[in-house]
Amino acid sequence: MAIPNPQTDWQFEASASVTSDIDYRRAWKAYAIRKNIALFLLYSWVPLCFGLFWWSRLSIHQPLASLLVMAIWLSAAVAAIYWAGETRCPRCRRRYGALGHRKGDTNLTRGLFDKVCANCKLRKFEVIP
Ligand SMILES: [Zn+2]
Repeated sequence: MAIPNPQTDWQFEASASVTSDIDYRRAWKAYAIRKNIALFLLYSWVPLCFGLFWWSRLSIHQPLASLLVMAIWLSAAVAAIYWAGETRCPRCRRRYGALGHRKGDTNLTRGLFDKVCANCKLRKFEVIP
């Protein structure tokens, strides 16, 4: 039988799933929700740290509790980023927003900020009729 080839296997998977009627819009919507949750948790972590630091310093005087909240928030952000990265590309079913799939790029242009599928070059939020 044919030897599995990661370079071309997606084409067979894609052509095999044409009849199964992929819902691109729903897949992208799910991805957008995950991505927005991940980015919200990530970007809100910095103001949260500043806020907790000053709140603790000026008012509640609970530095350990504040640190604990910061740590929990950061782990939630990391978990959400991982969760968003686990989203499958609607065409080739490979992990879409995950790190470590392309060579020669920095991490800043990969992961959640990827514009194309590293595997089948499907553009983000592209809908194939
Ligand atoms: Zn793909």
